[in-house]
Amino acid sequence: MKKGKKLYEGKAKVIFATDNKDFVIQHFKDDATAFNNQKKAKIEGKGVLNNRISEHILMNLNQVGIKNHLVKRLNMREQLIKHVEIIPIEFIVRNIATGSLTKRLGIEDGTILEDPLIEYCLKNDELGDPLISKEHIYTFKWATKKEIEKIDKQLVRINDFMVGMFRGVGIKLVDFKVEFGRIKNNGKTDVLLADEISPDTCRLWDNKTDKKLDKDRFRNNLGNLINAYQEVAKRLGILHEQSNIQTVNFEKPKAVKNKK
Ligand code: 5GP
Repeated sequence: MKKGKKLYEGKAKVIFATDNKDFVIQHFKDDATAFNNQKKAKIEGKGVLNNRISEHILMNLNQVGIKNHLVKRLNMREQLIKHVEIIPIEFIVRNIATGSLTKRLGIEDGTILEDPLIEYCLKNDELGDPLISKEHIYTFKWATKKEIEKIDKQLVRINDFMVGMFRGVGIKLVDFKVEFGRIKNNGKTDVLLADEISPDTCRLWDNKTDKKLDKDRFRNNLGNLINAYQEVAKRLGILHEQSNIQTVNFEKPKAVKNKK
């Protein structure tokens, strides 16, 4: 499939057209932003790691029946994905209270939530992605009731799967953000998990020490973001122990002929 013109540039990714209108290419940049674009940096290697980690998670979700936009990873920074119309809502699932939830409601940081808490935010940078209710969503027709019911069910399944997957490698899934898109399926419109799932979009804490292994390292000036993302990739079995981002070669090495 041929790479075409740039369709959209976001904060951390770029979307390119292909010669098939049903598919686009998602390119992961090294750019990091926080606090509604007020804090910005380029962190070399972040895009490569997010591409790989997101591919791993979305492929595993697909295997347990949670369909999503990923077709295949194309190279270090790019994935071929299904072309969807993104629903303008950020879907947040929380297992432990932290971040904006604690600030907004005064809940103690680290409080374990008895059941996963789903929140909806309007995807609008100018407004700072404000929290919205289902009533807002239906009133302003950002999504239908049927779509939200389907998405809510998927969010619980995605969370269950990811909590287990990360627990297995000694990581607590504190919270995460996902996005969904609309796609035509045999003439009917369906919702499909889209965007990315990576340490940019999840809060991941080491099980024993609560060390932050996610974008909060950038948000809160904790440093060593790449080391943390590499740690996540290593634990998920994507990177080998001795690898570092300069020497990482995700592709199969070419056979080298023995010199006599
Ligand atoms: P909070 O609302 O506490 O800031 O974020 C909750 C969760 O959603 C965190 O895992 C955070 O990384 C993710 N999240 C919320 N909004 C965004 C966003 O605009 N971009 C990214 N990458 N993640 C977000």
